[in-house]
Amino acid sequence: MKRLLAIAVLLALAGIALWWFIRQGPVALPKPPAPPVTITPPPVPPKPPALSELGETPDWSQLDMFQETITREDFERLLTTVFTTGEGWRAFITIGDQDSRIRTGIENEEFILRFASAGNVKPAPRMWRTTAELPPAPANKPLEGLRIAIDPGHIGGQWARIEERWLKVGDTPPVCEGDMTLLVSQLLKPKLEALGAKVFLVRENSEPITKLRPADLMQAAAETISANSPPDELRKTAERLFYRTAEIRARAEIVNHTLKPDLVLCIHFNADPWGDCEHATLVNRTHLHLLVNGAYTDEETALADQRQAMLDKLLRRTHEEETQVSATVAEVFAWRSGLPPFLYPPGAKNVCQVDGNPYLWARNLLANRLYDCPVVYMEPYVMNSVIDHPRMIAGDYEGLREISGKQQPSLFREYADAMAEGLAKHYAEKRAKAN
Ligand SMILES: [Zn+2]
Repeated sequence: MKRLLAIAVLLALAGIALWWFIRQGPVALPKPPAPPVTITPPPVPPKPPALSELGETPDWSQLDMFQETITREDFERLLTTVFTTGEGWRAFITIGDQDSRIRTGIENEEFILRFASAGNVKPAPRMWRTTAELPPAPANKPLEGLRIAIDPGHIGGQWARIEERWLKVGDTPPVCEGDMTLLVSQLLKPKLEALGAKVFLVRENSEPITKLRPADLMQAAAETISANSPPDELRKTAERLFYRTAEIRARAEIVNHTLKPDLVLCIHFNADPWGDCEHATLVNRTHLHLLVNGAYTDEETALADQRQAMLDKLLRRTHEEETQVSATVAEVFAWRSGLPPFLYPPGAKNVCQVDGNPYLWARNLLANRLYDCPVVYMEPYVMNSVIDHPRMIAGDYEGLREISGKQQPSLFREYADAMAEGLAKHYAEKRAKAN
């Protein structure tokens, strides 16, 4: 009896266990381990290319219009004899048989310039005309129809001291380059118009073209100077970015997009180091030279915007035209003024002589780099010269006046006359004549 009872209890317990088991459903198996999560890192933005002060990342596709417009030989000749002074460019520009590969400054990115095969050179597109392309002109108007922009160098007026082109000798009135260049430009304009040219002044008064002022450029200045710079370095850098960089970039906008001239004349006066501007040191010499664009240094070709601008300038083929015009202007100017050539120190890396002409040098200046057309860039006379300074403070006058014991014309008229005569000679000799 007891045994039967035990079996009944066991059966009951087994039933309960079975009921419990069914109620629980299938036994949950342990979950397999989750597959490892692969996290895709956000794309790393390309490192910005190295640029000049206030320079913008260049758009290399703008050089596409020059595809097949130059042979390999011409490209290599211009690049190595006019546009560069060192070998540093080879780190960025490779010249092959069919094309040149140029590093854009963005990692692993190249611009490919295809060379023209000999006898199959496409014309380079441009807004300006070479002397040979101008229509025939009458003998008394050799500049007929020529579009000329005169760029009076610097700003002058109340800005002259900031731009450090101002000096004073003893009790005499100050000499200010920006005011003198404007005066020459105003004298030159009607002379060129009388020869038939259409003439524009890039600046008509002593106010900047740029809307920016030094105060707007403090942030940009702070980014270019080192932390341990002297206290006034920030202010000076902001001023320099204003009067040199921003101002010349604003002028280039007008020249390239509004005036679109055949030729730009950059009017300047030279100076030797003068020390204190309130008590300038005089030097016993004077000189003349003219500049064409070129002679980019290794440091400059390493900057993406300058490398692109150099190739843009080379491919626009302005070099030959600005060299020809400048050579004749230099010849006439030297003869008219009697100024000897200025010689740069031998071995200078930022300059090279052009065609063995002692008056003609290639240099990479913002103005002759950014203007798209040929540029005649004048650097005559020396502001702190014992020879020129008395003529500068004498101002402008008609006829002759005794200065330093000699009867002399106004230095400003001599400048304008020599330029007009030089340009007239170039176009009269090289341009087709109208019957
Ligand atoms: Zn100047």
